[in-house]
Amino acid sequence: MSGFEGSYLGASDRISPQAIMECKICWTPYDPAEGDDFRQVMPGTAFSDLPDDWSCPNCSAPKAQFMVLEDPGANALRDAAVVRAATDRLVADFTEIWHAKMRDVPLVNKALRVEAVGFRRLDGRIVGVLVAPWFMNLILLPDGDDWSGLRPGEKEVVAFPSGDYEFLHNVRELTGGYKACSLFSPMGEFTRQTDATDVARAAMTALFDPAHRDGTDRAADIRAAREAELAPVDPETATDPNAAPVFDEAPSRRAVITGGLAVGEGAA
Ligand code: FE
Repeated sequence: MSGFEGSYLGASDRISPQAIMECKICWTPYDPAEGDDFRQVMPGTAFSDLPDDWSCPNCSAPKAQFMVLEDPGANALRDAAVVRAATDRLVADFTEIWHAKMRDVPLVNKALRVEAVGFRRLDGRIVGVLVAPWFMNLILLPDGDDWSGLRPGEKEVVAFPSGDYEFLHNVRELTGGYKACSLFSPMGEFTRQTDATDVARAAMTALFDPAHRDGTDRAADIRAAREAELAPVDPETATDPNAAPVFDEAPSRRAVITGGLAVGEGAA
């Protein structure tokens, strides 16, 4: 079975949804943008989503005998695999801490679980937000470098488009070295996991938005925005039944991004 190097052979995890494939017997291409008229496959159908019994419209060679002609999504696919491997270790580490040490600690939020949100590769690092039942942190992981020699507790100021953030170094068994910047702790104000992950995603957006830059402590600003967002929901202050839509999520999400972050916006 050798001699057909590069054949797909069913390895759908190695090609992206954008991959253009080619029959290695008759060179007929399959382009997901076009689909396959012959078998009424709709345009936009990824090669890996074709039925297993799909075959070459020209020579009937089986699907496994196609090879990659061009894959515009290959880099994104590789990025996703690198990020997934790193965040899987991070989530495993903190899930273990959750079960072994934190479950019965006061102030933990049992409605939440450990989840990596919005992680991406950036300039030789992997950056994202880790949500846990007892904290929400910005996290930096190494992308190829060895951070196992980091000294736990050491501080480092890291620049992002929105400003400078102070990170603490730490080392864990599975994760190895990582850097963390606290956004929230404890997590009592989040009622659901999606509530926390929405805020984590908004924080990632704000992190990369230069419009938010003003040279102050960005983590504190994100916290302040969240507190401002929560204020109207406080039953002690929400006394007017005709008051503005307290549970309208769109404005509160926007508040996280712009409310407390663009400090100079209203004042300027
Ligand atoms: Fe063919």
